[in-house]
Amino acid sequence: KAKSRGDGKSCIFEAVMLLDVIAQRELELDLRRALKTDEFEVHYQPQANAETGLFEGAEALVRWRHPRRGLVSPASFIPIAEDIGLIGAIGEKVLRLACREASSWPSSYTLAVNLSAIQLSDPRLVDMVAETLFETGFEGHRLELEVTETALLRDDARSFENLRDLKRLGVKIALDDFGTGYSSLSHLRRFPFDRVKIDQSFVRSIPSDPESVAIVQAIIMLAEKLKMAVTIEGVEEIAQHQFAVKEGCDQIQGYFLSRPVPQSDIRTLLTSVPEAAHQREGDHARPS
Ligand code: C2E
Ligand code: MG
Ligand code: MG
Ligand code: MG
Repeated sequence: KAKSRGDGKSCIFEAVMLLDVIAQRELELDLRRALKTDEFEVHYQPQANAETGLFEGAEALVRWRHPRRGLVSPASFIPIAEDIGLIGAIGEKVLRLACREASSWPSSYTLAVNLSAIQLSDPRLVDMVAETLFETGFEGHRLELEVTETALLRDDARSFENLRDLKRLGVKIALDDFGTGYSSLSHLRRFPFDRVKIDQSFVRSIPSDPESVAIVQAIIMLAEKLKMAVTIEGVEEIAQHQFAVKEGCDQIQGYFLSRPVPQSDIRTLLTSVPEAAHQREGDHARPS
């Protein structure tokens, strides 16, 4: 924070900061209202089986349909919701909505839902998930909850108990944004995750950057040894897609296959054959 030096510059600086504070406060009030007036919706990004090329599930990604600002992305309101104690209520809404909507998908498709660190350490989390599954009729084994490495950093015993109890419900657990956290490898030893999602930051520079290639290959190998499935996230280009298939990733997610879509479009999208799967039919090098 700039010290008041009495010059015009720092005055302007402080005025801007004050405006920031006001904007922040307005956003907080807006978020509280949004919860009451149901302004949250869930979009879905399909995930493809790398071997068959077909979609096998989708990740639920929350959006805020703000009356004036339009569609607001989670990156700009989830951190605030966490700060002001609203993430539990928003997370619960997202899970219920997603489970209800995914109940109408053909039964072979899975649903992934993100959990905030705060939700993960909430003693009521497991009951909330169990209740939601019961109420929506969505089968627990089709649900995968994604937790980030930072959520595990607090080393909170409750979080690990919750993960264990969620697995007892039959729910799967994925480690999201893998490789970006502090001491990533140690997290793999602390819980039997069903899936590891390789962070987009590594994917962005493959296959041209040898270091990223080596890291992604190593994560795939490691996950295989630990009997965890691997999803590669943020695949935007055909070369990245081909790399993921060649290296033996289990699942592929990214703009190359599809951007997240509103709930009205996801059912049809899931049962369609992705372009990348068509290309593969003509691939003679593929063993049958
Ligand atoms: P995430 O869980 O890692 O989700 C993936 C994000 O990457 C999504 O952004 C998705 O739209 C984006 N993405 C997917 N493919 C590509 C690609 O090929 N290129 C690029 N550049 N981006 C791609 P989104 O929807 O904006 O969500 C951002 C983050 O917000 C999520 O990251 C997740 O951490 C959080 N989030 C989203 N929904 C929820 C929620 O319901 N609850 C909580 N706690 N967090 C959520
Ligand atoms: Mg995620
Ligand atoms: Mg991620
Ligand atoms: Mg992320």
